[in-house]
Amino acid sequence: MALIVQKFGGTSVGSPERIQNVARRVARWKAMGHQIVVVPSAMSGETNRLIGLAKALQPEPDARELDVVASTGEQVTIGLLSMALMSIGVKAKSYTGAQVRVMTDSAFTKARIVHIDDERLRKDLAQGIVPVVAGFQGIDANGNITTLGRGGSDTSAVALAAVLKADECQIYTDVDGVYTTDPRIVEGARRLKTITFEEMLEMASLGSKVLQIRSVEFAGKYKVRLRVLSSFEDDGDGTLITFEEDERMEQAVISGIAFNRDEAKITVMGVPDRPGIAYAILGPVADANIDVDMIIQNSGVDGLTDFSFTVHRNEFAKAMEIVKKVNAHIGAKNAVGDNKICKISMVGVGMRSHVGIASQMFRTLAEEGINIQMISTSEIKISVVVDEKYLELAVRVLHNAFGLDKPGK
Ligand code: ADP
Ligand code: ASP
Ligand code: MG
Repeated sequence: MALIVQKFGGTSVGSPERIQNVARRVARWKAMGHQIVVVPSAMSGETNRLIGLAKALQPEPDARELDVVASTGEQVTIGLLSMALMSIGVKAKSYTGAQVRVMTDSAFTKARIVHIDDERLRKDLAQGIVPVVAGFQGIDANGNITTLGRGGSDTSAVALAAVLKADECQIYTDVDGVYTTDPRIVEGARRLKTITFEEMLEMASLGSKVLQIRSVEFAGKYKVRLRVLSSFEDDGDGTLITFEEDERMEQAVISGIAFNRDEAKITVMGVPDRPGIAYAILGPVADANIDVDMIIQNSGVDGLTDFSFTVHRNEFAKAMEIVKKVNAHIGAKNAVGDNKICKISMVGVGMRSHVGIASQMFRTLAEEGINIQMISTSEIKISVVVDEKYLELAVRVLHNAFGLDKPGK
């Protein structure tokens, strides 16, 4: 007998029929003698709808109230799924985050889990009841409802698995595992049987939304066995996230390609090339709580240089405004912005021991006439910023050039 936490994403619980489908799957696992804890997301589109309602009434919604609204999608699915389970003879009981006592900090809309009470859940499990726990939500020390950031149900499931010392945390979604790249963009994408935590962390942080990054961090930290599977297929092993490189079945230099359309670039031109300039520009940006991703400063000519950096597209306007103010102050000539860019990243632990990966990447893009605007590298990834209109082409040609395509593609 194993204890398994099963998380079902929005599409998987997107209609009453799909909820029944999930219930049947849970019942099958239960019938095999396992103890199951289920974590559903809100029905697909529901969280967006709720946030839209909030914005219709307050364009920059109050964060506390936004969480009160956004968290309700999951309250619906826990109740519905519990009913679906009961109606096929499985004992089930729903819990909101507050009822379990999923304790978080007070960072509304992006709260972090600090503690989970496992008492009620263990009692239920001992009595053969399936606890159905709302994903994405918790409660802070003052009793306020909090949410864990978009895609946060993954993190709820992994955190529950960690606290309950579950044998496995299964993330059921609308694809049958983690692929070499988003299978919706590249037809030839291949499912990976395994991927290391290190690589999955990079893929998630560089834009592959199949797992929320915090869920991967949590699973790595608390040694949770984590697997991504399809909720629409009955068999298949999905993708197992592994701890060691040598646990991997397939050794490739590049494991996957991630991309992110959510970035925007700001270039400050004609900046005086002297100490303190990076701080003068980025200090006020950081003070406004805006995260900066890539940064490039060119070497100066005639005492002047250019300075570029990227921010989340949602914060582009705010960052531009700050930079324009700073410009006047530091005597820079001009600032230009571009929010039609994207970042494409190749990830692989095998990259460490191979030279020439970057140059092969640059050559492949050059052959397609794709201009690289920015580059950043680490031991196991190379990222480039290119014009958004080349996103699909770039991912496709890189996927092919690095031998990631499925045979026959
Ligand atoms: P859920 O609602 O189940 O949480 P998500 O939409 O959050 O589902 O995540 C699944 C989606 O992630 C897939 O539909 C797919 O388009 C996308 N995706 C992006 N990169 C990858 C990848 N490398 N492998 C698999 N899916 C990916
Ligand atoms: N319902 C939340 C969202 O859409 C959480 C999740 O689906 O994981 O972001
Ligand atoms: Mg998700």
